[in-house]
Amino acid sequence: MPKIIHYRNKCIGCGVCYEQQPSLWRMSRKDGKAILLRGISKKGIFQLTVPGEVMEQSAAVAKACPVNIIKIV
Ligand code: SF4
Repeated sequence: MPKIIHYRNKCIGCGVCYEQQPSLWRMSRKDGKAILLRGISKKGIFQLTVPGEVMEQSAAVAKACPVNIIKIV
């Protein structure tokens, strides 16, 4: 299954990922950055395995991120 990778340290908190896919993203009230819901952190890089049917929307979110820190693998 595909994975979403979020390089959270580089997030500028624009909110586009949350606006486009609120089922997977939240904005942190603490630091203003995006949170990949249920994502597993490895050294500040968050990963989440998602079902294939979610991927089309996630690919659009990755493309829309202005600093290009959401990857689909
Ligand atoms: S779209 Fe990118 S920069 Fe904007 S909040 Fe989401 S992860 Fe951060």
